[in-house]
Amino acid sequence: MNSKSWATCLVCGTVAHFRLVQGVFIKGKFMCSQCEQIITEMEMDDICYPLIKERLKEIWVDNKQQNSS
Ligand SMILES: [Zn+2]
Repeated sequence: MNSKSWATCLVCGTVAHFRLVQGVFIKGKFMCSQCEQIITEMEMDDICYPLIKERLKEIWVDNKQQNSS
């Protein structure tokens, strides 16, 4: 019973257990393999693309918070 075994997918919000759901960590954020696959196969003009891109921005934005004037 380790709470660290659980993570929330930053894209779909699914709470995933590492033993049940596979996924990847990107800069400390978790993304389930389902979303990873969706993104991998997604076309640039996919209707979900802007939405998922917006979510992924959270990963990159974290590193840019020095410039908050
Ligand atoms: Zn997901």
